[in-house]
Amino acid sequence: MDGHMGSSCIRIKNGGRTKIAIEWIVDTYGNDYPSLNRLVTPIKKLKPDEGFYIIDEDKDTTNNIVYRKVAILCLEAEKHGNSWKGVHNRAFEYYSHLNIFFKYYSFGFDGLKYSAGEPDKSKRKCRFCGKTGAKNFHDVAHAIQDSLGNDLLICNEECDECNHNLNKIEDNFLHVMEVRRSVFHISRKKSAKSAHVTGYNFVIEPNEDGEAELYLMDEKLPPVDKRNKPFQYTLFNKPEITNEGVFQALVKMVIDLLPNTEIKHFEQTIDWITSLGNMYPGPLPSMYLANSPLFHRQPTLDILIRKVDKGDTPYCTAFLWIYDLVYAYVVPLVDVDYARFRTDGSLERHWNFLMSLYPFQWTKQDTSEWTKASSWVQIYVDISNPKIHILPKNTPIFNDSNKLKKIGEEMFFPSFDPSHISVPVVTTSFYDIHKNINDTIVDLREVTEHPKEFSLSLNKTKKEIRFVLDIHTNDSTDKIPYFDYKINATFQVGCFDKYIRIEKKEDGGTFAFDWHLRDHLVKSAILFAEPQMASKRKGTPFENCTIHHLLKTESLDRMLDHLVYRFSFNGRSYRVIDIAIHSRDYINPA
Ligand SMILES: [Zn+2]
Repeated sequence: MDGHMGSSCIRIKNGGRTKIAIEWIVDTYGNDYPSLNRLVTPIKKLKPDEGFYIIDEDKDTTNNIVYRKVAILCLEAEKHGNSWKGVHNRAFEYYSHLNIFFKYYSFGFDGLKYSAGEPDKSKRKCRFCGKTGAKNFHDVAHAIQDSLGNDLLICNEECDECNHNLNKIEDNFLHVMEVRRSVFHISRKKSAKSAHVTGYNFVIEPNEDGEAELYLMDEKLPPVDKRNKPFQYTLFNKPEITNEGVFQALVKMVIDLLPNTEIKHFEQTIDWITSLGNMYPGPLPSMYLANSPLFHRQPTLDILIRKVDKGDTPYCTAFLWIYDLVYAYVVPLVDVDYARFRTDGSLERHWNFLMSLYPFQWTKQDTSEWTKASSWVQIYVDISNPKIHILPKNTPIFNDSNKLKKIGEEMFFPSFDPSHISVPVVTTSFYDIHKNINDTIVDLREVTEHPKEFSLSLNKTKKEIRFVLDIHTNDSTDKIPYFDYKINATFQVGCFDKYIRIEKKEDGGTFAFDWHLRDHLVKSAILFAEPQMASKRKGTPFENCTIHHLLKTESLDRMLDHLVYRFSFNGRSYRVIDIAIHSRDYINPA
């Protein structure tokens, strides 16, 4: 024996007599316990001194998941030439932690098939529509689409009709993954070639070996002198998706894999998914995305169910590990959450705790946007990579790209005339929260800004638009708080209907906002706010920190990506992020 976890998991090192001992056990007891025979082949393949684990799964059912997770991580580490001992303690502590605070489920990580719910077709009840009867359960319903590389995870309790109808939701996420699927050569059949992907500024095509090669349009890339080191670049893909749809696809995976005793808590969540975008769920919490240190060709889903309700933990949290990414999200609309966890603020403690266990660079992702937009992915382009090719736009390989409708084809608006827009009514506030600074801060370039709110709230009836900018600033190391400031500017916009369109049709919504109007409002608000702000900064170390720097093209463009439009339509409230409705040409700003 080489080590143990608890009293039901041992680690054995393949020593000189291990094979003989195992063979003896199998010979002696194999007839009575036929599953022992399965040991013979894997034991034969073991190299000298290689380790393996034996877990008595019936003995300690609560901690099995911890043992299996740790065992697999240690074996992975050994496979890559690292010592298992270096991984063991950290992994054991970490998974035990999760298992103490949550009912912890993990699917797909161990190569084992898992089918959630009732195996007997005649006893099944569909989780999504309630249908029963064996005739409605003819097909195999994958809990994660098989085209994403899922060979293992099945939901028994998803009827044929729902399996078919909910594809529309699942495809939102499939499209987000399209470029990765091709680059990582994910396919249903292992022999198949990488998928062909046509985007607006790129094409991916398999080469003779079936592996993906990336073709980029020369004209869209940064200038030649900026390409000598790897640079970040956005690939715009053709299919249109909504952020809400992506979130629903991720939540559906959880519904598919939960133990069926849990489903009763998720009725409203299920209504929201099956409404196919026709139910307004109220505010939804953001989800988070990070790069995963381990690669998951088979997607793995972790589900954490709250054990004790102390008021700061939502009932159900999930982590989806897929390829080089991990998504973290809270399943919304759970009955026992009593609508407490709808906003990011209400989840701060929860995420702080979980993200301390997963210390990655997490990026917040919007989940409520319903307007359709092209899916896009950011990649690092290293032109020394032999699988990346840069070709002019008129090369035949881009024929289909050139035929595609322009990204985010903007609605036609009459030429912009600001004469019916009022001077804003401005209020500002400024709080010096540092107070003990000795040096004078020269300008805002020495501080780090964190926008808490950056939005335009639209009131169509009153033809009124309110601009809000609420910013917290720290020092340049982002550690010491400096000051908070807030701008509120209300405009009367006589030409509201001329430059803004809000419509919702069955197949999705249209929200259009002339970017000339956007720029006019944002710039005026900042210009009119500065004199007020200047008097409030007087006598503080921040006296010279004018906010005019926000108006510089480069910082304004970057900020405008995050501008949020808030409005009500047919009795529902919506928020739309600017990047979803205004296309960006990052290379040649217009
Ligand atoms: Zn159904």
